[in-house]
Formats: sequence, structure tokens, C-alpha cells
Amino acid sequence: MSEVSLLAAQDVTKHFDTRDGFGRHVIVRAVENVTLRLHSGRIAALVGESGSGKTTLARLLAQFYPVTSGEILLRGEPVKGAGKDFYSDVQLVFQDPFASLNSLRRVDHNLRRALKLHGHPAEEEHIRELLEKVNLTPAADFARKLPHELSGGQRQRVAIARALAVRPAVLLGDEPISMLDVSIRLDVLNLLAQLRDEEGLALLYITHDIASARYVSDEIYVMYAGQMVEGGPAESVIQDPKHPYTRLLVDSSPDPGRATFASTVPPGEPPSLVDPPPGCRFHPRCPLARAECTTEFPPRVDFPDGTWTNCWLNVEDE
Ligand code: SF4
Repeated sequence: MSEVSLLAAQDVTKHFDTRDGFGRHVIVRAVENVTLRLHSGRIAALVGESGSGKTTLARLLAQFYPVTSGEILLRGEPVKGAGKDFYSDVQLVFQDPFASLNSLRRVDHNLRRALKLHGHPAEEEHIRELLEKVNLTPAADFARKLPHELSGGQRQRVAIARALAVRPAVLLGDEPISMLDVSIRLDVLNLLAQLRDEEGLALLYITHDIASARYVSDEIYVMYAGQMVEGGPAESVIQDPKHPYTRLLVDSSPDPGRATFASTVPPGEPPSLVDPPPGCRFHPRCPLARAECTTEFPPRVDFPDGTWTNCWLNVEDE
């Protein structure tokens, strides 16, 4: 997609200096040379297992911590330190809705505070509008409730309403449905789609579940162990995955018609990001790995259907 993205990570790397359980200094190589672009009126899903760097990337996009190298761009301009203006544009919705709500205060207080903080009118009608936007009706009833009086899905809706209170252009959802009952996950996904279509928001939907990514997103990005390995239009990525890890995710998702490639991949966890495998980090688990996979990360290859991948299987010999 060629138009200027609203928010983008451009060739971003994040290493954390920390200490291991024995007090030794270590570097966690959480995100390596990753590029991701978000556009108005579109949902991009970022898919991968736990520990793949998805949350770190979302927090880099939200300026919770600085990049080690690369750039975060807002409307094509590098972001130099985030202030109130940045957070008026970019909001992060957490996995646990309690994380963004004051549990001792009623819903209307939580929303009023966010409105006031960003200089917006915070009358009753504005609270009602926000609650109606996230389909919490009758709004007057929900406004007077404490967070613990709501179901998980209702709390996540309030957290989304709180994020919307600052009138953002970008919403970053970090596994926003993973802590919710299965029965209400679809409601929240439909709400994200509604915000894309009616408010024109640029949305990032982070998930480990590629089936839900397919349901709601326009584009899919796939991360493995801190590296971005595949991306493109959602349906093309699902129908014709080019990277063996994406094939594993697709085959492992609940669809009885597919169960072939996943059975050839040895079970296992993503590698340690303190001492990740060289080359393609998927190579210890990849049944198709070649010699070059163990030494060098493959270059990106683009396909006519708009997808791209970093896998030596797709790199033509010179
Ligand atoms: Fe497998 Fe090699 Fe492709 Fe990595 S680059 S997914 S190890 S074939």
C-alpha cells in the first residue's frame, strides 16, 4: 500500500539491557528490524505466539519506551518524544481492562477524567455519547456502575470508550479479547470493526489467534521470536501462506479441513530472546530448513497478491 501511513514502525529494533536469574547482565533481543504500517479505516492484525515481540512492538508504537534503532513515524514524520499531542492521536488498549480503569471510581468518572485530561467537554451528554459508541446502553445505567460490577466484555468496552475519549486517530489493541469469555469475544471484535468503519480509525489488533485476525483484519503481519516473517492482505495470507511459521499457525487454527503441515513441525516453544538462533529464528523448528537458514536472515520477497515474506524458500538463486 503506497499512501502515507498514519502510524508506522520503520526498521525498528528493541534490545533490553537486563539481568538474568543469576544477576548476570544480559541483552533481550525483543524486536529486530521490524516494519509495520497502520492506515486510516483499516485494521492490521499482528499475529504470533507469546514471546514473539508483539506487545513490545505495540509499546514502541505507543512510545512507552524508546527504540534501540529505527523510527516510529506519525503521519510520515519521525516521533521525537511523546507528549499530550501524541497521546491524543495514539491510544493503547490493554489485555486487562482493569489496567486502564480506576477500579474505585464509577464508569462516568473514568471517562470524564480522560475527557478533561485532553481538554474536551466532559458533560453528561459526552459520557453518554462515548458509552453509546461502544454499545453500552442504556448509557445512564452503565455510567453509574463501578468496574467490578461489569462483565469482562463490558469492562473492555469501557476501556475502549476511555481510549476514544481523547479522540484518537489510532487505536492499538494488545490482545484485547484474550481475557474475555469466548461468548463475548466476537462482540468486541465487531466493535473494533465498527470503529474502523464508522470512525475511520487505524487499528492494530494484536493476537495469538490467526482465526480472529482473519475475521476482523484487512492486513495480517506475522511475527516470530522478534522477527517479522510475513505480511499482506489478510485473506491472501490465510489462503496461501508463504512462510512455514504462518502455515503452522493457519493449520493449527480450528478448521477441520486442514491439519497437514502442522503435524510435520516439531512441537516447541519460541526460542529465548537472550540467545536467539542465528539466521532465521524459526530454523530449529522448521522442517524445511536449509543450510543458509541457520546463518543468515532471508531478504524480503514480495508477491503479486500483495503479500511478502522473509523465507529462504522464496528467494530465487542468483
Ligand atoms: Fe524455514 Fe528457512 Fe524459511 Fe526459516 S528461512 S522458515 S528456516 S525455510
